[in-house]
Amino acid sequence: MSTAKISFAPTNTMNVPLLDLHAQHNQLREELHSAVLRVMESQQFILGPEVQALEENLARYTQTAHAIGCASGSDALLLALMALGVEAGDEVITTPYSFFATASSIARLGARPAFVDIEPHTFNIDPAQVEQAITPRTRAIMPVHLFGQCADMNALVDIGTRHSLPIIEDAAQAIGAEDYERRAGSMGTIGCFSFYPTKNLGGAGDGGMIVTGDAEIAKRLRLLRVHGSASKYHHQMLGINSRLDELQAAVLRVKLPYLEQWSAAREENARRYKRLFAEAELVDKVALPHVRSDVRHIFNQYVVRVPERDKLIEHLKQSDIGTEIYYPVPLHLQECFRYLGYSEGNFPAAEQAARESLALPVYAELKATQQQYVVDVIRSFYH
Ligand SMILES: *Cc1c(COP(=O)(O)O)cnc(C)c1O
Repeated sequence: MSTAKISFAPTNTMNVPLLDLHAQHNQLREELHSAVLRVMESQQFILGPEVQALEENLARYTQTAHAIGCASGSDALLLALMALGVEAGDEVITTPYSFFATASSIARLGARPAFVDIEPHTFNIDPAQVEQAITPRTRAIMPVHLFGQCADMNALVDIGTRHSLPIIEDAAQAIGAEDYERRAGSMGTIGCFSFYPTKNLGGAGDGGMIVTGDAEIAKRLRLLRVHGSASKYHHQMLGINSRLDELQAAVLRVKLPYLEQWSAAREENARRYKRLFAEAELVDKVALPHVRSDVRHIFNQYVVRVPERDKLIEHLKQSDIGTEIYYPVPLHLQECFRYLGYSEGNFPAAEQAARESLALPVYAELKATQQQYVVDVIRSFYH
């Protein structure tokens, strides 16, 4: 059987995008249309009943007491830091291997992103290195649950507790992910989510959500998102304008009940890749995602590591297979962060991940035949 497979030459008849939003939309078209119409007829567009209902649903889904909608995942991070009083001169420990907003939210407030390298196999911040990075100016720790798998929260919460440091979870890619049966966003002091359309729960535009178990912090967040104002034109604190709108909330309320099945389909697709890569005898060529024990990885992205990545991308592109590099430049080497004084070699694991990581299609509606095609095309590259 395996000899027959090795001689198999993939025919170039399939198109496999990295993500196919149309496939999801086709299933929900009518529900979404009526939700959007409902909002249009209400003519209530900002922070209304749709947002409130979504906040309640999201608090339940993430196993937290309070959920506060805002304009984006980036704003969720910024508001979380503001709610904790992070300001100029402070330091926040975070990962150099993430989307830009993780570090920019810290720098935006005049605070310093203090980077700590990642664990090479999970791409997440290495707790063993966090403690050494703590200084008298450290105000918080901001781990990212990258690609849909939680950072090692037991270790991080332990460090946070011993040093009285709050933890902000950047859970933008990890809604529904679990770590020892606790949901992403519920383990630290504050959890931040994004509804950017490529996330597992994606809106029809930008949107974000902040969750917390702390009633005082929740109260502050509700003020901060509306310019620090509890009653119109009276401002208790300096906030920003970062409100979730009713159209987004209505769309997200339609989608939330499907999230579990979509994430389960992504997990199933990840298991299928594992089987297919093993059958194709590629596991020594392609490093597959490492899933820690006792976690639920929801595979917002399925990221493999290959040393000859750029040639492989070209090969996949010629066969109409969509891929993406998350992320080609680690945060400590971004031009705008040159003033922080980091240089190449500071975080070898993050730098290697930036050279080798490659996201393959894993979206819920992806078909088994498409996955077989992806693996066949990768095999034809190596054999
Ligand atoms: C998407 C993302 C964000 C930002 O979310 P937006 O809604 O796009 O602003 C922040 N952090 C991570 C890790 C993300 O993936």
